[in-house]
Amino acid sequence: MSNPSLLILPGDGIGPEVMAEVRKIIDWYGAKRDLAFDVSEDLVGGAAYDKHGTPLHDDTMAKAQTVDAVLLGAVGGPKYDNLDFSVKPERGLLRLRKEMDLFANLRPAQCFDALADFSSLKKDVVAGLDIMIVRELTSGIYFGEPRGIIEEGNERVGINTQRYTESEIDRVARSAFELAMKRGKKLCSMEKANVMESGILWREVVTEVGKEYPEVELSHMYADAGAMQLCRWPKQFDVIVTDNLFGDLLSDAAAMLTGSLGMLPSASLGQPMENGRPKALYEPVHGSAPDIAGQGKANPIACILSFAMALRYSFDMGEEADRLEKAVEQVLADGKRTADLLGEEGVTPVSTSEMGDAVVAALDASL
Ligand code: NAD
Repeated sequence: MSNPSLLILPGDGIGPEVMAEVRKIIDWYGAKRDLAFDVSEDLVGGAAYDKHGTPLHDDTMAKAQTVDAVLLGAVGGPKYDNLDFSVKPERGLLRLRKEMDLFANLRPAQCFDALADFSSLKKDVVAGLDIMIVRELTSGIYFGEPRGIIEEGNERVGINTQRYTESEIDRVARSAFELAMKRGKKLCSMEKANVMESGILWREVVTEVGKEYPEVELSHMYADAGAMQLCRWPKQFDVIVTDNLFGDLLSDAAAMLTGSLGMLPSASLGQPMENGRPKALYEPVHGSAPDIAGQGKANPIACILSFAMALRYSFDMGEEADRLEKAVEQVLADGKRTADLLGEEGVTPVSTSEMGDAVVAALDASL
């Protein structure tokens, strides 16, 4: 059987810095576990715009469609803020998600014991937290038509459209129920059925799909109440499923429960390919962090944990994913902290590459 193939797209800002640490881990798996990956690398976002005048070259898009998994760093930065909307770095990422039809975005929010004190919430509220937010990713208000800024009378009007078909809701609900079956068998669906017709349909379809999963305890919550509950008592949740816009906001809120954006991985999955593996894009939740780019301050753990998700969901290497996650946990338990994780007295931060080296050392110790 051929090696699993991986397309690496480091992108902009801290993207290349955190990806360099993932490269060390991929090399470690080749050298110490005899696990070889066919790795190729290409440009995305501002880096692709600088070279090709587009945030995602057609050749890169075609390559992404054929590999087993894509691992992306981050896109964007102030240099590109004034570009036309159609060529902004984020359009490259949105095109990947849309054309690979990655409709289910998995965002785990897990609180490592060593960081429980670091959360802005009380320790007992977050210690042991382990929730998964499933966000619909290819439809809803970010893609709905009509959209644009039009002239109406003597002023301009900004328009975006929230639109969901039954089948779009059905497939993401199914992914969430399947995930809940493998976890704590609890699923909370969030929408705004009180004020949005798309929310009413969302609730109806999720309820219908739920009949096929009688073991899963299904609940519904308005997304604004869900945001409050996430801050009040997040451990009441196991899996949350929600639409594109609410998922964007709720997963960033959940990010803060665990301490830092620099800790949060994500996976975006689509339909299975011919080899049975789902189309898949893995990326840290954080952006390109221009405020710290180029200073060796970025936390590479979100990107490293995104690779761990690739091991689990694309390469069927669950044990190796566990090994990598445990290595990260060990490094944190040993007190290693990048600057974004500082809070305790007397801790000197480690650099991006020192954190990557520490994870590699913990992997070594796991053998
Ligand atoms: P951001 O996630 O880049 O940064 C928010 C804050 O978190 C900053 O203070 C940053 O220093 C810190 N941070 C983020 N990741 C970190 C890490 N790994 N280690 C340590 N600290 C980290 O969000 P932003 O500032 O709103 O956006 C910056 C740029 O990134 C913008 O151009 C935005 O469009 C883009 N962006 C891209 C993505 C993506 O590629 N998926 C996501 C969000 C934002």
